[in-house]
Amino acid sequence: MNQLIKSSIVFLICLNLNAQTDQKIYDIIEAVSVDRIKADVQILADFGTRHTFSDTVSNTRGIGAARRWIKKEFELISKDCNNCLEVFYQKDFVTKDVKKRVPHDGWIVNVVAIQRGSKYPNRYIIMSGDIDSRASDVMDFSIDAPGANDNASGMAGAIEAARVLSTYKFESSIVYVGLSGEEQGLFGGAGLAAYAKEKGWDVIGVFNNDMIGNIEGVDGVIDNRSFRIFSEPVPPTETDREREMRRFYGGEVDGISRQLARYVHKTTQTYMPEMNPMMVYRLDRFGRGGHHRPFNDLGFAGIRIMEAHENYTQQHQDIRLEDGINYGDTFEHVNFPYAAKLTAVNAINMASLASAPPPPKTVAIGGIVEASAKLKWDKVDGAKGYKIYWRDTTSPTWDHSRYVGDLEEFTLNGIVIDNSYFGVASVGKDGYESVVVFPNSILRN
Ligand SMILES: [Zn+2]
Repeated sequence: MNQLIKSSIVFLICLNLNAQTDQKIYDIIEAVSVDRIKADVQILADFGTRHTFSDTVSNTRGIGAARRWIKKEFELISKDCNNCLEVFYQKDFVTKDVKKRVPHDGWIVNVVAIQRGSKYPNRYIIMSGDIDSRASDVMDFSIDAPGANDNASGMAGAIEAARVLSTYKFESSIVYVGLSGEEQGLFGGAGLAAYAKEKGWDVIGVFNNDMIGNIEGVDGVIDNRSFRIFSEPVPPTETDREREMRRFYGGEVDGISRQLARYVHKTTQTYMPEMNPMMVYRLDRFGRGGHHRPFNDLGFAGIRIMEAHENYTQQHQDIRLEDGINYGDTFEHVNFPYAAKLTAVNAINMASLASAPPPPKTVAIGGIVEASAKLKWDKVDGAKGYKIYWRDTTSPTWDHSRYVGDLEEFTLNGIVIDNSYFGVASVGKDGYESVVVFPNSILRN
């Protein structure tokens, strides 16, 4: 064998060790249906209003009809996969005195569908959309509020992801959920986050999809490729000690939600190169809220996935014609091929995470006053190996990596600890990787 062939073989083997080689990610992208998302947004918009405090008795109008339809839809999907989904309502009662945006006492009802993982049933990756909508006056629960983009688009995306992913089996559990009470004060997210905490769920992360169907900004910019991934820098639940450690060891932009954002960014660039994922280094849009936040509040990783260009005449607006502008969040403003792309982004990331082993719990880093950084981690059941990532301190993405096999420590020769940030991910048998873990311990000689 000549030298060239030998080195090509070595190269191919390395490639195989480093990359996920499962065709199913491409199949999942292909399977997401524009037509089904379109049909579902139409049905949701046709409930007239889905205001959280709207009619719950009617079968044709209001949030009661909407949530029953969503539940029925999840049950139909479950029937097609041999009852692979556990479908139920998760609800909490709110009273008028708790918050300004509650017009009368009522139930906040979420619709939950769980696709149980085969190997790690208590690990959950969650995709949420919202059931509820609003018009100009957030307290008006009677006027038309079709909420086609905000947020029937995200809701339809979650239902479609369930259709596509329920044809596969995964090691970790996937949760598809319609949350309620978003516009009134993030009640549904708070309710489900508390439920997850109480049940001891090991939450891998939350993908909050809120407005995934608008491609024309209020300024006229049209862009059907870009979308935003919002993530907070560090968890609000961190301790004073953790904050103090950051001053000396770094980690200001490396919290668990940020790592989840990087994961989605990377997976999208790898498998959907036509898309332009934009990481936004903040919790949410300036001063505004979304349903990932209540999960973040309890220490869970969570991000918001959203269109890049918003049209403010088409969100939270009464339907009307004013100065030649058609106000209102109506069906005809939604771009369905784009909503399908963002649904696919969710689906491939959930499939990847639910196929990957858990990340190492402890990652220690050393190499102070040495020429080489050293990493040490605890091994994970189900991992075939580990991958060390690093990047310049100014880079948003994990630009360098090294697969090291089934080891529990490794020295990166010649890579100085001071000049990069580091992390470690677990790698499963098919090459699926966990989220990267930023070091949470220091190795001292
Ligand atoms: Zn809204």
